[in-house]
Amino acid sequence: MSLDDLYQEVILDHFNNPRCRGELERPDVRSELFNPLCGDRIELRLEVQGGHVVDVGFDGKGCSISQASASMMGELCKGKTLHEVEQYSKLFQEMLKKQCDEEELVQLGDAKALQGVRAFPARMKCAMLAWEAMEKCIKKFHTDES
Ligand code: ZN
Repeated sequence: MSLDDLYQEVILDHFNNPRCRGELERPDVRSELFNPLCGDRIELRLEVQGGHVVDVGFDGKGCSISQASASMMGELCKGKTLHEVEQYSKLFQEMLKKQCDEEELVQLGDAKALQGVRAFPARMKCAMLAWEAMEKCIKKFHTDES
């Protein structure tokens, strides 16, 4: 099995068995984004306590890349601090632009399986959508707080 096949399998697994999908009982913040290029939609909800993302719930429709990316992101960010989540988001965007160190990418967990998207600029937005929704949620949270 090649590395590409392995990544393909991780992506399909998240698409078929999404993590962090569904409503939250007490969401503190939510955001919704649409990708007109592909028709992907992500609605993201976060529960935030003491600077930590204690729970993540998403709903969405669209291609396997967009939905798998949301699932991977949810799994990775749940339980992390807002600061850590922002760092992951930065690293994820960098990974889509250029080759990053494998050592760095392990931080992203399963989300590093999406690095192959780098070769398909048209699909970049699909991979980014969930992360953009996450950044929007964090921004909203900071605004509401102050
Ligand atoms: Zn898409």
